Amino acid sequence: MKNIVDPLLKWYEKNKRELPWRKDKDPYHIWISEIMLQQTRVEAVKIYYERFMKEIPDITSLAHIDADQLLKLWEGLGYYSRAKNLQASAKKIVEEKGIMPSSYQEILKLPGIGEYTAGAISSIAFNEKVPAIDGNVFRVIMRIQNSTRNISKTKTKRELFNELSLIMPDQPGDFNQALMELGATICVPNGMPHCNICPIKKYCKANQENTMLELPIKDTKKEKKIEHYTVFILLNYHTVAIHKRPNRGLLASMHEFPNIKGNLNKEEALKYLKKEGYQVLRILETDSSKHIFTHKIWYMTNYIIYVEETDQKNIWVDIDTLETEYALPSAFKTQLKQLKQEIR
Ligand code: SF4
Repeated sequence: MKNIVDPLLKWYEKNKRELPWRKDKDPYHIWISEIMLQQTRVEAVKIYYERFMKEIPDITSLAHIDADQLLKLWEGLGYYSRAKNLQASAKKIVEEKGIMPSSYQEILKLPGIGEYTAGAISSIAFNEKVPAIDGNVFRVIMRIQNSTRNISKTKTKRELFNELSLIMPDQPGDFNQALMELGATICVPNGMPHCNICPIKKYCKANQENTMLELPIKDTKKEKKIEHYTVFILLNYHTVAIHKRPNRGLLASMHEFPNIKGNLNKEEALKYLKKEGYQVLRILETDSSKHIFTHKIWYMTNYIIYVEETDQKNIWVDIDTLETEYALPSAFKTQLKQLKQEIR
């Protein structure tokens, strides 16, 4: 394993991608980018990161920004608990020392920060010799060792943490990033890895045994739960109804179009709306939509409904206000598009 360190560092120095959060080693910049990069592609994160830094340039402003405004900035990135945990951590930091903690163990105590993120921040920003093990690192190491250990097991993670700790060089941040970069660009997860241009090919046992595509071994994913909804895009003149989701659970505190469980046909939808006290002037069934979360899939039947009057149960906003002031999750982007088509 020790043999891979120098070639990897040299390769990284020459080949690392220019990314906005790599311009300096500011722990705040690294922290925000690492949280955004969880479950989100680098290209998508770039835009969000630049916008986020313009609006929330430091920990103090993150601690004090209005929670709805923060969600609006996060809109489209998904996994909104990440934004909430960021703010909870910022508040904790501001209340305590006022600056980002500088050790792995202290960083690990912040809400929403796990071992990987703590490793990335402490090694990149503070030069602490700790590994940062994400999916890319797991894949690269399991292939180098031609190891059939199951990476879904905590035991494997602990073993790998210890093995990498033993070979950490004096540039731990660069080494961690080099491993991740290799996994993201050369030792790729889908399809054939680009072994012919890999800087550590001669140390890779999987390459020698031709087992690259069989590794790493992990638990098979659980089936996603299927849920059905009927979504009502209620219109009264130029205003549309939205409401805030509960402040716990999936898409907590985000806004959404009114909806109920089940796929209602037009007749059932009209009956339901009447029961809810709406006087329907016109109902249009639009294309149904689907949204895939990590652990569930929503199938949605959508209706645009013109109603006689607004009500107190919902917030009624014009479309510009909806788009600029309210955080609407990606799950409702199809309905937003349908609404725009209908109005314009
Ligand atoms: S040689 Fe191939 S399988 Fe081995 S680490 Fe490099 S890219 Fe991955």
